[in-house]
Amino acid sequence: MDSLFASVELAPRDPILGLNEQYGADKRGNKVNLGVGVYYDDQGRIPLLEAVRRAEIKRVEAAAARGYLPIDGIAGYNKGAQTLLLGQDSPLVAEGRVLTAQALGGTGALKIGADFLKQLLPDSKVAISDPSWENHRALFERAGFEVVAYPYYDAATHGVNIEGMLAFLRQLPARTIVVLHACCHNPTGVDPSFEQWKQIAQVFQEKQLVPFMDIAYQGFGAGLEEDAAVVRLFAGLGLDMLISSSFSKSFSLYGERVGALTMISGDRDESTRVLSQLKRVIRTNYSNPPTHGGTVVSMVLNTPELYQLWTQELATMRDRIRAMRDQLVDKLKAHGVKQDFEFVRKQRGMFSYSGLSAAQVDRLREEHGVYAIASGRICVAALNSGNIDYVAEAIAKVL
Ligand code: PLP
Repeated sequence: MDSLFASVELAPRDPILGLNEQYGADKRGNKVNLGVGVYYDDQGRIPLLEAVRRAEIKRVEAAAARGYLPIDGIAGYNKGAQTLLLGQDSPLVAEGRVLTAQALGGTGALKIGADFLKQLLPDSKVAISDPSWENHRALFERAGFEVVAYPYYDAATHGVNIEGMLAFLRQLPARTIVVLHACCHNPTGVDPSFEQWKQIAQVFQEKQLVPFMDIAYQGFGAGLEEDAAVVRLFAGLGLDMLISSSFSKSFSLYGERVGALTMISGDRDESTRVLSQLKRVIRTNYSNPPTHGGTVVSMVLNTPELYQLWTQELATMRDRIRAMRDQLVDKLKAHGVKQDFEFVRKQRGMFSYSGLSAAQVDRLREEHGVYAIASGRICVAALNSGNIDYVAEAIAKVL
């Protein structure tokens, strides 16, 4: 008799993890990994933020017991997540229309949101941007949805194909779930302008589409408040919506799995019922979230000195990425590159769709030990004062 698992096929390798393994095995001393999705400081390290360190010390000193958290997590954490999204004095929060559950990173928030929606809207499709974060499609398909892609990126202009996007959204059936990157689009780094967002929001209203906002880089674009503008625009128009927040990057707490799912409903009574169903989803998946990362984030969000320190540290990360964008463009010019890379300055967040072809990316890796994704996505947050000259020179050579 065959063994139980004899028919199990080998799953395809995760392309990004595969690239990381290849990078790890590369013996060249000057190799650079721009394929990652992580913020590194100027020394090439993942920072431990001082606000986080101080909160962790307080937490250890308090020697708190590690009982189970409530199914929906820490109340102060959820409140903090809501405030980041909707501001201090949101009338929606006051009206009881906003509910939040702590989640296992942004991925966990997307997954419990997807499972909840599959029960509510079993026949709806999910639309994601073309291109999108590589896990969006797989995650919603695994939750049982058919996933389609809406036009988003225009390679010719390095901008948003707004007409294509609007036209596509307009022909979707009511109650189609549409995943939007609220800021710092991954992988392109290209966001719609605020005027374009208004047009997009209008289509959601007219066509009764369901916004599922993914905000994984709040604070990395223009600032914490500015980066929430799109969430507030949609919420202000009275649209019911889901929002997945990730604090992995903004708190540099990747491995702690800190995220949240927030939903905006029609009224307080609806929120109570929605939360009760969401808790069932959580209970049957992982029961309740872990304590450490959530407690630390909650302490930072709810302690004024730590909050202020965190916002400064976030600004430092944001400014460093911007400086790397500027320097990359300047250094490419200095290396005699004629091609226009000005668009890199305008992109937001950790990533840049660099415009490099798959063949150029291959040459970068093979000839220079500079690793990027085949789509041409580079992580600008992995550039630093020690590697940027080398990277600019390598790019200039493969163009
Ligand atoms: N959504 C987007 C757009 C992302 O880029 C990421 C992470 O790279 C996530 C969600 C997942 O975040 P987390 O690591 O918190 O699960």
